[in-house]
Amino acid sequence: MADQRALEVLQRVFGYETFRAGQQSIVEHVIAGGDALVLMPTGAGKSLCYQVPALVRDGVGVVVSPLIALMQDQVDALTELGVRAAFLNSTQDWQGARDVERAFLQGEIDLLYVAPERLLTDRCIQLLERGRIALFAIDEAHCVSQWGHDFRPEYLGLSMLHERWPDVPRIALTATATDTTRREIAERLALGEARQFVASFDRPNIRYHIVEKNDVRRQLLTLLQQEHDGDAGIVYCLSRNKVEETAAFLCANGIDALPYHAGLGAALRSQNQSRFLREDGIVMVATIAFGMGIDKPDVRFVAHIDLPKSVEGYYQETGRAGRDGLPATAWLAYGLSDVVQQRRMIDESAGDDAFRRQLGAQLDAMLGLCETIACRRQRLLQYFGQTIGPCGNCDNCLQPPQAWDGTVAAQKMLSAIYRLWKERGQRYGAGHLIDILRGKLTPRVSEHGHDTLSVFGVGTDLSEQAWRGVLRQLLAYGLVIVDQEGYGTLALTNSSREVLRGERTLMLRREADRPAGRSTPKSRAADPALDAGAQAAFESLRAWRAEVARSHGVPAYVIFHDATLRDIAIARPDSLSALSHVSGVGAKKLESYGRSILERIAAFDPGDVQLGQTA
Ligand code: ADP
Ligand code: ZN
Repeated sequence: MADQRALEVLQRVFGYETFRAGQQSIVEHVIAGGDALVLMPTGAGKSLCYQVPALVRDGVGVVVSPLIALMQDQVDALTELGVRAAFLNSTQDWQGARDVERAFLQGEIDLLYVAPERLLTDRCIQLLERGRIALFAIDEAHCVSQWGHDFRPEYLGLSMLHERWPDVPRIALTATATDTTRREIAERLALGEARQFVASFDRPNIRYHIVEKNDVRRQLLTLLQQEHDGDAGIVYCLSRNKVEETAAFLCANGIDALPYHAGLGAALRSQNQSRFLREDGIVMVATIAFGMGIDKPDVRFVAHIDLPKSVEGYYQETGRAGRDGLPATAWLAYGLSDVVQQRRMIDESAGDDAFRRQLGAQLDAMLGLCETIACRRQRLLQYFGQTIGPCGNCDNCLQPPQAWDGTVAAQKMLSAIYRLWKERGQRYGAGHLIDILRGKLTPRVSEHGHDTLSVFGVGTDLSEQAWRGVLRQLLAYGLVIVDQEGYGTLALTNSSREVLRGERTLMLRREADRPAGRSTPKSRAADPALDAGAQAAFESLRAWRAEVARSHGVPAYVIFHDATLRDIAIARPDSLSALSHVSGVGAKKLESYGRSILERIAAFDPGDVQLGQTA
């Protein structure tokens, strides 16, 4: 039975006509007092799953979130909707916290955001015990996972919520969803009894694209200039240095880029984050310290210029693109050195063998994604236990690479590696190895007498580039390792012997020939053009929104999303009641902004626009 109260809140407060797939059953389950574990991809609409029940149920919805730097924006966005929201975290002064506590006790708050470390203090627990709580929402619940990429030790303490408040429903939400993570969340948060809701993890509007790295900065610049001119986006790098260098490089090339990493100092970080959220077309160059909880809807691309450590993290990072449902790009450049570097980092990492094995398995899955010739999205979703057909919107679907039988090539390379490895104490890189295979008589080759090896010149049939591809894939598949004890030289593994003995066929990936520059055809889907009149109205509404957002000190999308302004520009409502039917216009926003929007629209006589155009 549909809960009328939930639908009423959805329409009146949020201005949305219907629940999205999955939302309704979650909302009703929580309203009825049930615990829930919700797994939904970024952008699917998790927030409503606890916000609506919090408004329907008696008392305050307490939201536990690790995202202190974003709480102000979250509260501002709710305030714009007419929801009474507040937060308690360490950015507040004493008086500010006192005011919130008082409002909480007097029942003047609907939603209270709390940082986990704050929630676990005696003071906070005592406060909550004196008030009335509608539900606990545990956002970014994967932070409880110790294997995961966002582990927060404070999250482990949250199992106490169940003990202290056994009758208050708890809803844990996350966008990461492997079975392991899901089990860990259920166990660590004492949500074993909770109903699990798993949505489809597909994000069809994101185009996945993985390229071979050669001159990565140039490749990145080409992507930004040719496909994402003026767009907001995120560029992920592994190290702080690389963040700084890449941001500087992009700026020098006329791109509005800002750096973000943990070494920058809190003030600068929050300033850069705030500019990214508030201004149009900023490119954030960042380590993975950036991005969790960023709900900017119009991030048009996410680029990785270093290999991510796991598919789980990668999917979450790329999911930050295109939350508005419009076309967006996820681009990753990856090469030989990434594999070597990541394997070394794992070898050198602190932690026991089990931990290193786990990291190794995560990396293998990531490499499998990079080297696959099948649909990327199929592969990604398979990782989360979900099945789809070929997507038609990834590089492999759009320009299928070829598979070729690389067994013989691999045998040649493996025997060359074996010969070089036997000369322990010498360290030869990939370049030298390939020179030998291709029969290039370089000074180094002569000096070591490597032109006398039986493998010298056996590989003239493949280009240097192709050989690098073979080596990269051998490393990716664990058929070659970098032997740390043997001076970092390349070495065989147990499984490489199977290939050498011809017991295993090795199918390798060969890149499709791509026209220089442009990587794939530019995404155009789902971006219906507005007619001239609507376009002019849309621009005018955006200008209006920018003014309002500035004067309220909030990001523009907190006032209205682009999608809502587009719908208004198309529908050209001439009354408040007509305007109220546009998706995203709730009661409070209608009251605050309805009249100025109608005035703005009335100033647009379509006839005028047409005249202006023909003139
Ligand atoms: P998540 O937290 O899952 O990443 P959000 O809760 O931020 O996603 O929602 C993503 C976007 O979808 C937001 O802009 C939200 O307003 C919008 N949205 C959510 N539910 C609905 C709905 N039922 N109808 C229309 N838009 C919705
Ligand atoms: Zn595909």
